[in-house]
Formats: sequence, structure tokens, C-alpha cells
Amino acid sequence: MRQLVLATKNKGKIVEFERLLNQHAQSIKVLGLIDFPDMPEVQESGKTLSENAKLKAKSISIFTKLPCLADDSGLFIDALEGDPGIYSARWAGYEGEDSRERDRRNIEKVLAQLKDVPAQKRGAQFKAVVAFYKPNTDALAIEKEELGVMAGEIVLAPLGDGGFGYDPIFKPTGFDQTLAQLAPGVKDEVSHRGIAFRAMTPFLLSNL
Ligand code: IMP
Repeated sequence: MRQLVLATKNKGKIVEFERLLNQHAQSIKVLGLIDFPDMPEVQESGKTLSENAKLKAKSISIFTKLPCLADDSGLFIDALEGDPGIYSARWAGYEGEDSRERDRRNIEKVLAQLKDVPAQKRGAQFKAVVAFYKPNTDALAIEKEELGVMAGEIVLAPLGDGGFGYDPIFKPTGFDQTLAQLAPGVKDEVSHRGIAFRAMTPFLLSNL
């Protein structure tokens, strides 16, 4: 059976990725970082989503000796000149393990930064880069990346309790609800990660 490592410990992302992958490729066994407890933490030292995604895919693939798919994503807010961007995960500086508390603080900070910004100027995009790396003994490694973008706006106050991260304050263009109010399947259809992942799927299936 073909195997693939997904480079994440984030439960929200694992659930999303599994759901997405199973639509296309049921014959692939998907492992997560939880299956490699000795894997050292990869420092996201890149300056772009692309650099970070490629760095993660390559390091994890070399360590596990398996093909790896890694993503890096973030929220880019127009009125904040693209912040929090690659710093989305730790925007409010919370270093603890409680992901709900981290999300709550990040959302609070963004809403405070946007408190004087009117509704028509609250545009934002979620972006995701998905990078694939497969080691190859007798030739160059196989590498590929895809970008997915979802446009929308930041609402005035959090709404909904589904999803993770900034979902409660992001309303995708063309929807009346935030990502946290939408059914998970609906989010997959329009999400930055869904777009990048679907773009990657044909390459993944023919190169695993
Ligand atoms: P990373 O990709 O794990 O480096 O972190 C990206 C961060 O961006 C996450 O921790 C979330 O705060 C935020 N983010 C990325 N994708 C989403 C999403 O689909 N919904 C809500 N927040 C997201």
C-alpha cells in the first residue's frame, strides 16, 4: 500500500486533510506526525508560506523516508497590510498548548486591531501552500507545490463554533455566514487548503 505522511499535529487540519484525501484516493495510507514521536520539531524559519511548506515537507520526508505533504497557511488582512500572514498561528504571542485559548486570543487581537476599520474595508484572504517532497535514491527528489486562496472579510464579532483558528471571524465572499458556521463539507469546497490540496491531488496520485 502506498504511504504518505501529512506534516501536521493540528487535529483540525488532520480531520480536514483526511476528509479531502478520502474523496480522491482511498488506497493511500495516511500517517501523521503523531506516528513519528521522535521527529524533531521543524523550525518554520522561512519568510513565506512557500518556504515554510517546502522546508517542512523536505525535513519530514528525509526523517521518515516517506513521501510527505506539508502545508503552511495564514490569514492575510488588507487593512493590516497582510498581517498576521505567516505569523497567524502565534499572532497574540500565546505559547501554551491550549489551542482554543490560542485561537481566542488571536481573534481578540485581530478584532482589536480592526476596531476602527469599517465593514467595506475589512477584506482578507486565507492562503495555503501545499508542498510535496518524495525522496529518490537514484535521481533528484520529486518536489511540487500548489497555492490556494480564499477571499472574504473579517466580521465585526465572532460567530459560530465549528472549525478552528480564525474561522469564527472570517466570512468567505458569496456567503452570509462565517467559516465557523458553515458545515465542514462546505468549507472544504471553498477553503484555501481545499483548493491547494485538490490542485495537488493528480500529481500526488501519479507520484506516490
Ligand atoms: P500553520 O499553517 O500551522 O503554520 O498555521 C496557520 C495558522 O493560520 C493557524 O494556526 C490558524 O490560526 C490560521 N489558519 C490557517 N488556516 C485556517 C483555517 O482554515 N481557518 C482558520 N484559521 C486558519
